[in-house]
Amino acid sequence: MRSHELVIVGGGPCGLGAALRAQEKGLDWTLLEASDHFGGLASSWRDGRGFTWDIGGHVLFSHYAAFDGFMEAALGAAGWLCHERESWIRLRGRFVPYPFQNNLHRLDSAARWECVEGLLRAWQARRDGAEAPAPEDFYEWMQATFGPGITRHFMLPYNRKVWAVHPREMDYGWIGERVSVPDVFRVLRAVCTGQDDVSWGPNNRFRFPRRGGTGAIWQALGGQLAAGRVHMGEEVVRLDPARHELETAGGEVMRYGVLISTIPLDRLAEMSGRTEWAQAGRRLRHSSVLVVGIGLSGGVPEELASKCWMYFPEEQVPCYRVTVFSNYSPENVPGGRDYWSLMTEVAFPGGSRPDGEAVAARVVEALAGEGLIPDRGKVVGVARRFAEYAYPTPFRGRDGVVDPLLRELEQEDIYSRGRFGAWKYEVANMDHSMAQGYECVERIAGGGGAEQEPTLHRPDWVNSRRNP
Ligand SMILES: Cc1cc2nc3c(=O)[nH]c(=O)nc-3n(C[C@H](O)[C@H](O)[C@H](O)COP(=O)(O)OP(=O)(O)OC[C@H]3O[C@@H](n4cnc5c(N)ncnc54)[C@H](O)[C@@H]3O)c2cc1C
Repeated sequence: MRSHELVIVGGGPCGLGAALRAQEKGLDWTLLEASDHFGGLASSWRDGRGFTWDIGGHVLFSHYAAFDGFMEAALGAAGWLCHERESWIRLRGRFVPYPFQNNLHRLDSAARWECVEGLLRAWQARRDGAEAPAPEDFYEWMQATFGPGITRHFMLPYNRKVWAVHPREMDYGWIGERVSVPDVFRVLRAVCTGQDDVSWGPNNRFRFPRRGGTGAIWQALGGQLAAGRVHMGEEVVRLDPARHELETAGGEVMRYGVLISTIPLDRLAEMSGRTEWAQAGRRLRHSSVLVVGIGLSGGVPEELASKCWMYFPEEQVPCYRVTVFSNYSPENVPGGRDYWSLMTEVAFPGGSRPDGEAVAARVVEALAGEGLIPDRGKVVGVARRFAEYAYPTPFRGRDGVVDPLLRELEQEDIYSRGRFGAWKYEVANMDHSMAQGYECVERIAGGGGAEQEPTLHRPDWVNSRRNP
C-alpha cells in the first residue's frame, strides 16, 4: 500500500498551490488528479476546429504578491497579453457600460428616472439613519442599497440568472467589497452630463495567456512538480477517515497522514461513509454552467472590436455573459484575423441535466437576434462544455453548514479547501483557491491553527488588501 505524509486530491489551482508549497518545504507528498490535465475549472480546451475555450470567462485577479510570482514563473513575461477590462451590460437592444448604476444616462428616460429616484430614496433612508431592519437576504440588500429601479432593471434579473436561484434564497455577507455602494453624486453626474463613467482605464488592466487559454497557466505550474509525485487519471472514490485511507477508482488503497481535498465538499462528505457529514453535504447548494463557444469566420464586428465581456440580464437571451474570446488572444482562434469567437455561459441550478445542443442553438439564435452575430452563415462551429459544479451558492445559512463540517473533517486530518472544497464564493477565484492550498500546507507544516489560513478564515480582510 502506498503511503504519504500528505496526500493532495485535485490538480486545480488549490491542489497546485498546496503541492508547490509542499515541494518547496520538502514534505513527503503526492497529488492525485482524476482527469488527464491540471487546472480543474480553470483549464482550457481546443475544439476540433482549432478554437480554444475556457470553462467560462476567466479574468486573472490577484490579492497576493506570491500569486503574482507564480504567474510570472508560469509563463514568463512574454507569455502574457495585456488588456483593458472593458465590460458592458446589454439591455433592451443597447449597450450600457459597466457598472450599470454609474451609466444610467444610457437608459430611456422612464427607466432612468425610475433608477435615479429609487437610488436617491435608498440613499436618503441611509443618510437619515432610518430605523430599517438589516436586510434579511440578498434581495432585500439590493433593494436597500440600490433602490427598486436598479434592482428591477439589472440587479435582480442578472443575479437570478447568474446564480440560477432567486436572491431571496441567498445571503449577502459574501459581497464585501465586490459590489460598491453607489456614490449618488457620481451617478447624478453621469445622468446630467451624459458622459460614460467606465470602470476601465489605466488601472483596470488584466493579463491573459498568449497561447492555450487560462489553462496554460496551470499546465505550466503543474509541469514544475516532481513527476513521480503526481498521478493523473486517478479518481478518489472512497474515504475511510478512521483508518486515514482512501481508495481510487482503480481499486488502489492509499494511506495518508494528512489529506488536502479539493473535491466538492458534498461529494467528499458522501464518500466518507459518515452519515452526519453526508447529510450536511446535501444541504449545500451550487449552480452549474454550460459553456457554449461560438466560432465564426471573418473579422470581429466593429461594435465588439474592443469589448471584453458583456452581461445579459434579460430573459430572451439564455446566457448571462458573453466574452469576445478572440479579443483576448489571436491564438484563441485558428486563423488569426480570419476568425473570431464568442464564449457564452448559461447557468442552471445544480443537479439539472440540460439538453446542451438545444440550449446552444437557442444561444446562437438569441445572439443573432441581438445583432451580435451579424451573419449566421459565418458560424463555423459551436463547442460545448458542461461544468456541473460552477458556482458555490452563498445560500442563506451557508456558514452554519460549511464551518462545522470543515472543523469536523479537520479533526480527522482532512482539510477540504478550494472553490468547492471550502464552498466560500468570496474566496473562490483562482488566486484565492491557490492561496487556500498554499496556506493550508503552511499551517499543516507549521503545526499552527486557523490563523495561518487567512484566506479561508478572514475573507474580507484578505480581499481588502494586497497580501504579502
Ligand atoms: C464559469 C466560471 C468563471 C470563473 N471566472 C473566474 C475569473 O474570472 N477569475 C478567477 O480568478 N476565477 C474564476 N473562476 C474560478 C476558478 O475556476 C476557480 O477559482 C478555480 O478553478 C478553483 O480551483 P480549485 O482547485 O479549488 O478547484 P477546481 O478547479 O474545481 O479543481 C479541482 C480538481 O480536483 C479534481 N477532482 C475532483 N474530484 C476528484 C476526485 N474524486 N479524485 C481526484 N481528483 C478529483 C478535478 O478534476 C479538478 O481538477 C471561474 C469559475 C467558473 C466555473
